[in-house]
Formats: sequence, C-alpha cells, structure tokens
Amino acid sequence: RIRIEGLTKEFDGAPVLRGINFDDDVTTLAVIGPSGGGKSTLLRIVGGLIAPTGGTVEVDGEAVAYDERTLPAYRAQLGFVFQSSGLFHHLSALENVALPLRVVHGVPEDEARERAADLLSRFGLAAEEGKRPVQLSGGQQQRVAIARAVAARPKMLLLDEPTSALDPEYTNDVLDLIRDLKDSGTRFIVVTHEMGFARHACDKAAFLHDGTLLEYGASAQLFDRPTTPELQRFLSKLL
Ligand code: ATP
Ligand code: MG
Repeated sequence: RIRIEGLTKEFDGAPVLRGINFDDDVTTLAVIGPSGGGKSTLLRIVGGLIAPTGGTVEVDGEAVAYDERTLPAYRAQLGFVFQSSGLFHHLSALENVALPLRVVHGVPEDEARERAADLLSRFGLAAEEGKRPVQLSGGQQQRVAIARAVAARPKMLLLDEPTSALDPEYTNDVLDLIRDLKDSGTRFIVVTHEMGFARHACDKAAFLHDGTLLEYGASAQLFDRPTTPELQRFLSKLL
C-alpha cells in the first residue's frame, strides 16, 4: 500500500509537486499526464532517488526516511527501469543482470549467473546472454534492463517511460513483458504515454497535471469517465 500525504517538491524555489495526496492498495499503477507535470519527479521521490521538499511517503506501512544512511537499503528493495536502459556497456547481458545480484544483494556468483540466465531466457533473450548492449536492439536492451530490475525480486518495480525511447516495432515486446510480470504477481508503478497499456494492463491510473494529482482510481473508470476537464482534454488530444 502506498500513502502519500501533502507531498511537495520545489526545484530552485519553483514548485513542481504542489501537495500530492494518495492512498491506495497499489498493485499496478499507471501515472499519466502532460509533459512537465511532475510524473518523473513523483516516481523518483517514491523510489527514494530524490527527497521531497515537504510531505510524507509510506510504502507498506513504513515511512520512507529521506536520509542518506537509510535510503540505500530502501532503494535496494525496489527495481528501477528508465527511458534509456542504463546498462553497463562493457558487460554482457548476462553479467548486467548478475552483477547487481552479487554486488548489491550478496548472491553467490554461480547462483547469480544461474538466476540471470533463467530470467533472460524467460524474457526471450537466451540467445543474447553473451552479447554486450551495443550488440542488442533497443527493445532487447530494455528487456535486459527489466530483467536486471526484477532479478532481486523487488517488492515493487518503478518504470519511467520504459518504451518511449524505442522504435515502435519493439514497444509491444516490452509492454508484453511488463504485462507478464503483472500476471506473475510483480507490483509496479509505470509512468507511460502508452494509453492502451495504461488502460488495459494497469489496474489503477493516476493523472498528474501541473504538479497536482487531479484524478486517480481504477484505470477503466479513469479512461472511460474522466471527471476533470483537464483529463478530458488530455485524453481527447490523444485520440
Ligand atoms: P515528461 O512527460 O516530459 O517526462 P514529467 O511529468 O516527467 O514530464 P518532470 O520530469 O517530473 O515531468 O518535471 C517536472 C518539472 O520539474 C519540469 O518543469 C522540470 O523542468 C522540472 N525539473 C525536474 N527535474 C528537475 C531538476 N533536477 N532541476 C530543476 N528542475 C527540474
Ligand atoms: Mg518524465
């Protein structure tokens, strides 16, 4: 469960989040809204990558202490996927997945490699495990990045526009993979501009507009019966 109360964020005195309140039993949540509205900022605060200016975030009953001594342990319980894969370019796909397991989570080398190989093959990348990122397509790189993020069985996955840097032909591979993760019980929050995916693959959706959370609830409801003029306008522009 995620509870957010009075969350604000300013950058150089400019408000970017203007008092976000949220309380929901999150399993799969899409965060949608216009560019610059604060989606990435919100995701980064929930993930403990940056601290808010004010307010609180609570995940599964525990308040996130924005304190450099406790944040690394908090972040290590989560999996992150960003727009660009952020893979280590000098390592193979397999090593990219296995390395954090060993270094961050202390999994013994053999087991880390075995788990990495299992995941890559589950993600359709068995033949790619020895390749370095430059030898992979964008969609394959992003699937490796997702494998890396889920390898340590995070309690929640945070994805920020995981498909927006991809050629359209690879987008569905990655979205299908995220859908499979959902079916296997992985919780996630995804910032996305893929409205079909947000509508059909995410149980809940939240609409962030100019630093304010204007609507959140069941995806079907949000998309089919938007109540604020801002969301109505946002959705109609996409059709
Ligand atoms: P997009 O859909 O384009 O990714 P977004 O909803 O993710 O947009 P954010 O990246 O959260 O938006 O940015 C919200 C606002 O905060 C923007 O005006 C941005 O310029 C500003 N901002 C974000 N990060 C910083 C930073 N590190 N320093 C200063 N301003 C920032
Ligand atoms: Mg963003």
